[in-house]
Amino acid sequence: MARVGNSIIKGIEVDEVIRLLNKAYADEWLAYYQYYIEEKVVTGIMSKSAVTELAEHAADELRHADMIANRIMQLGGTPLLNPKEWFTHTNCGYEEPKDFDVVAILEDAIKGEQCAIKTYSSIVDLTRDKDIVTYDIVSQILADEVEHEEDLQALKDDITDFVEQVKKSIK
Ligand code: FE
Ligand code: FE
Ligand code: MG
Repeated sequence: MARVGNSIIKGIEVDEVIRLLNKAYADEWLAYYQYYIEEKVVTGIMSKSAVTELAEHAADELRHADMIANRIMQLGGTPLLNPKEWFTHTNCGYEEPKDFDVVAILEDAIKGEQCAIKTYSSIVDLTRDKDIVTYDIVSQILADEVEHEEDLQALKDDITDFVEQVKKSIK
């Protein structure tokens, strides 16, 4: 067990950091699966470009889960061991795709990213000047989530603009 590494954590309990990270860990696995399955079922206009974006985001969320699991281990904690716990610990939940149309799928995904941004922004605030290593990791993840939201929003705008153009042209 450590850890001089833990002795540099000041003003926040290590157990509290582990608790927050495990909640984010649950979010990342659920986000990974949501993107994974959305990429399979999405249909509709320009859905090919959505497939590429959703697959990239799935890979990013899995990488985030890995970054968080490694930090939890470093802190002397244990990442959630049972997928059942993902649902009891998650901040952002899981949005089961009900409507497979690309715009509906993108809207669900955007909601998820907005929740992730709020979650990581709060962990960044709680660890700033207290647990620099966790702070650095969650800041990197936060930057990815901001990019995810932007990518999805831009894609959704492209698709809805295109649909509007088509509607106008056939009037
Ligand atoms: Fe993520
Ligand atoms: Fe994300
Ligand atoms: Mg992207």
